[in-house]
Amino acid sequence: MTEAELHKIAQKLRLEAVRMVYEGKDGHPGPALSIADIIATLYFDVMRLKPEDPNWPDRDRLILSKGHSCPILYAALNERGFYNPKVEHFHLRELHSKFQGHPSMHSTEGLDMTSGSLGNGIAIGAGMAYAAKFTGRDYYTYVITGDGELQEGVCWEGVNMAAGRKLDNLIVFVDRNGWQSYKSVEFTVGHNNIADRFRAFGWYTQEICGHDIKAIRAAIALAHENKGCPSCIVCDDIKGKGLSFMENDNAWHKGVPTDEQYALAQKELGE
Ligand SMILES: [Mg+2]
Repeated sequence: MTEAELHKIAQKLRLEAVRMVYEGKDGHPGPALSIADIIATLYFDVMRLKPEDPNWPDRDRLILSKGHSCPILYAALNERGFYNPKVEHFHLRELHSKFQGHPSMHSTEGLDMTSGSLGNGIAIGAGMAYAAKFTGRDYYTYVITGDGELQEGVCWEGVNMAAGRKLDNLIVFVDRNGWQSYKSVEFTVGHNNIADRFRAFGWYTQEICGHDIKAIRAAIALAHENKGCPSCIVCDDIKGKGLSFMENDNAWHKGVPTDEQYALAQKELGE
């Protein structure tokens, strides 16, 4: 698939995520748009999957540790063919809907882990990657974590274990958008160099623009070549990426577009 095609898919997923929130009248659009390019590249170019057999033992795994950004993941699973027939209205966050505001693997096909209680993804991913080594399977485990989320101490327990066990089949993306629910990450914890911290634990760590599909693909390719330690790809991202009224405005961490804003989103994202 070409970079232009992947970009087009990412834009389509963005619009689907925004529509989901608009129709459901609740949700987290900013954090979803932030990772759209990473999700599109993983699900449409990189991951080995069988949408018709979501529990295929040799599939690559993805843990969306920042679970509240799930609208973009639901959009990707739907577009990739995990739901037959294709879902038209997601009923996001409605009682008994399979598309909850924080993803639940027991109710939604294609999810490898329940998430949303922040901080758990890296440690769980390390467990999955270790299980692959232990059972002789060659799947990769991908984790997407937020930069605010890394304040949870358990993240670093997972980072430590993954390095100790030389889990080169584990690739963690950090969505470094500079924001968390409350305020900026810098306001909350001061300056902290995420990449240096991963390197200090012995991870092969790259820093890229998380909206540059060429860079995302290249970083994943290098992470696949890397042997003997886990990989971290720190992505400089823009919260709300793709929408003029949403970019870098943390008010959109959680929020619902008005009718006018949704119309603008359709225009800006290419419908
Ligand atoms: Mg963030």
